[in-house]
Amino acid sequence: MRAWAEIDHDALRHNLGVLRSAAPDSLLMPVVKADAYGHGLVSVARTLRESGADWLGVALPEEALSLRSAGDSGPLLCWLAVPGEAFGDCIAADIDVSAYDGRMLAEVVAAARAVDRRARVHLKVDTGLSRGGAMPPWEPFFELAKQAADDGTIEVVGLWSHFAYADEPQHPTVARQVELFESAIAAATGVGLTPQIRHLANSAATLRLPHTHYDMVRPGIAVYGISPGPAVGTESELDLHPVMTVKSRFVMVKDLPAGQGVSYGHQYVTPHDTTAGLIPLGYADGIPRAASGVGPVLAAGEIRPIAGRVCMDQVVVDLDSSQAEAGDEVVMFGDARRGHPTATQWADLTGTIGYEIVTRLGPRVARIDMGSTPKATDPAPSEEAKLSG
Ligand SMILES: *Cc1c(COP(=O)(O)O)cnc(C)c1O
Repeated sequence: MRAWAEIDHDALRHNLGVLRSAAPDSLLMPVVKADAYGHGLVSVARTLRESGADWLGVALPEEALSLRSAGDSGPLLCWLAVPGEAFGDCIAADIDVSAYDGRMLAEVVAAARAVDRRARVHLKVDTGLSRGGAMPPWEPFFELAKQAADDGTIEVVGLWSHFAYADEPQHPTVARQVELFESAIAAATGVGLTPQIRHLANSAATLRLPHTHYDMVRPGIAVYGISPGPAVGTESELDLHPVMTVKSRFVMVKDLPAGQGVSYGHQYVTPHDTTAGLIPLGYADGIPRAASGVGPVLAAGEIRPIAGRVCMDQVVVDLDSSQAEAGDEVVMFGDARRGHPTATQWADLTGTIGYEIVTRLGPRVARIDMGSTPKATDPAPSEEAKLSG
C-alpha cells in the first residue's frame, strides 16, 4: 500500500475513558463531524457507542444521515444546516436538530409538520463566540420555541452554546460566556421551557473547566488523542493517546552528490554526499505545503525534516547516508510514545493546529482500523442513555 492511516480503536476507547473521568456526572457526546476529524466516521462512531458514548454530535445533516444509513440508532445531534436543508429527513430519522434563531426554528417547525413527526430541537444561544446562535435578548426566540412545543410540533430537548477561548482556560471570556449561558437558562425557564440537556463544553472545557460541564459535554479533538492547545496541556499531561498514525513507504532510495538541489525550486541543497528517500505523499493527501523544509518524518530510524518543497504527491527526505531501501516504512505522524512525530508537532511547525493536520488528510489515504473494533454487522447502540424521545 502506498500510504495509510492506522486508526487505533484502543486509543479511542482510552481517550473516551479519560473524558468520561473528567466529566463523570455529565452525558458524553463525542463529536464525529468531518469524518470523525478525518479518522473515519462509521467505524469511529461504532467504537464510541460501544465504549459508552451517550450521544454523538456532528455538524452536517448528511453526516448524521450517513450514521443512520450505517445502522447507528443512538442519540445524535447535528447543528449546521443551511436554509432549505433536509430538516425533514433528520426529524424522520430521529436525529436531533439545532435552531439558531426564529427563522431556522420556523423551518424546523415546517419540516416537522411535513413529516408528521415531533422534532427534537436544541436551541443555540450565542454567548460570545459570534458564530452561530441567537443573540440576546433571547426571550422572543424562546417564546417561539415555547409555542411550537406547546402545540406538540417540537420538543425542546437542549439549550446550548459554544466557547471562543476554552483552549486558554484562564481567559476572562470564559467566565463571561458562562454568565451569559446562565442568563439564557434563566430566560428559557422564564418563558416556561425546561430543556433537559444544557451543554457548553468542548474538549478543553471538558478537561479543564468542570463548572462548564452542565448536563452534557461535547469533546472532539481530545477523543482523537490530540490536545486542544498548549495552555490546556500536552497529550502526555492530559493522558491522551493519538488515534491516527499516518504511514507510507519509500518508493525509491538513491544516492545524491553534495551540492544537489532537491525538489521544486531547489529549496534544499544536499550539504554532502547523501542518500535520499522518496515518500509518495504530498499536499493532495493533506500534507501541508507549509511543511516544506520542516515536516518531521520518522524515516530510517530517525525523525528528519522534509528536504525541500512538499509536492502534490511526493516528498523527499535526506536520509543522511543511513541504511534504507525502497519499501521501508516511514511514519509521518502518530504517537510520541512510539517515537513518532505527532500531529501537534506538525501543527506547531506549520503554523496550524493539530485539528487541521488530522482533518485535512485526504481520501487517497486509506484508513485502517487497528485494535479491537466492533463488528460491522452489529452497529446498534443501546437506547438506554437516551433521555427521552
Ligand atoms: C467541533 C465542535 C466541538 C468539539 O470541539 P473540540 O475543540 O474539538 O473539542 C464541540 N461543539 C461544537 C459546536 C463544535 O463545532
